Amino acid sequence: MPGTGEHRTEGRPRRLAVGSVVVCILAIGAIRAGSSVSTRPLPATPRPRATPAPPRTSGPPSAPASASESVPDLAGLRLAITLDDLPWVGPLPEGDTAAIHGLERIEGVLRDHGAPATGFVVCERAAEDEAPLRTWAARGFRLGNHSWSHHDLNAMTVAAWTGDVRRCDGYLKRYGSAYAPFFRYPMLHQGNTRGKRDRAAAALAALGLRTAHVTVDNSGWLLTQADARAMRAHDAALREDVRRAFLHHIIAAVEHADRVARRKVGRPVAQVLLLHANTLVDHGLGTLLTALSARGVAFVSLEEALRDPVYARPDDYVGRKGLSWLYRIAPASPEDARWDDAQADSIRSRFLR
Ligand SMILES: [Zn+2]
Repeated sequence: MPGTGEHRTEGRPRRLAVGSVVVCILAIGAIRAGSSVSTRPLPATPRPRATPAPPRTSGPPSAPASASESVPDLAGLRLAITLDDLPWVGPLPEGDTAAIHGLERIEGVLRDHGAPATGFVVCERAAEDEAPLRTWAARGFRLGNHSWSHHDLNAMTVAAWTGDVRRCDGYLKRYGSAYAPFFRYPMLHQGNTRGKRDRAAAALAALGLRTAHVTVDNSGWLLTQADARAMRAHDAALREDVRRAFLHHIIAAVEHADRVARRKVGRPVAQVLLLHANTLVDHGLGTLLTALSARGVAFVSLEEALRDPVYARPDDYVGRKGLSWLYRIAPASPEDARWDDAQADSIRSRFLR
């Protein structure tokens, strides 16, 4: 939903990451020179898949790569694609009159790339028009629970929050086996106190829901704000810059998550990428998946990714932030979010001032 990640930056230090901006601009320029990213909406299937991969990326200067944190080889990396805020979040793509149009294009791209995906539903929105979810389910994709109203657990009682989750659970059961028993915390907020965190987790277990953790968190929500601003201004050149920045940023986030896993877990883990059903993904998903495939990434289902033992490790974080699961597992390492903060600062400096 709009502003999905706003609360996730609460308490994080704000820095003027000038160096990050320079790196971002250079990297975006490299993508511009080396790719054929199109400004046009995705055509109906079948789609061309010949777009060259963007170059490898590096973190911002505020998180310098050491010898042990050099750019990793992504060959063999297993990655599950998840799409939050179904049926749609933010403005519809130009020319579309309903969420189903963009969602159908996204489904087509996922199918072309053999990428199983789970879409996390804000049920209050879905109940207004069931056609998008019916199509999503009919095409073999899974639906997960993202709560009825996208409420923030940090800002309410566990009882009220659980009622919101239960209501969505009841609604999604109408989709039968397409409803996978997974839950995605809105804003990735799992409770700002130990008691709240643990009671909420117990409530999910009682409903038969398993947490769909995210390891590749990102600031795509910020770039979505920038895209909406450029759309309102009818600034096609700016939209193109935002779209390139989105591709660069998501690939950098995958690389970063892989670095963190290797350092903290001691091995590559099956990663879970958070994306949203929005205009940026509608436009850029094909190029993104092509680029990741070219790097050797294998797309797997959320079910398969969550079989990685890393997702059975204890949650060691208590606090207000919505963090990657890799930062939450023991020992909790919220300081790893400095990378995310630098990326967000870079995006704000470039597009949202
Ligand atoms: Zn959400």
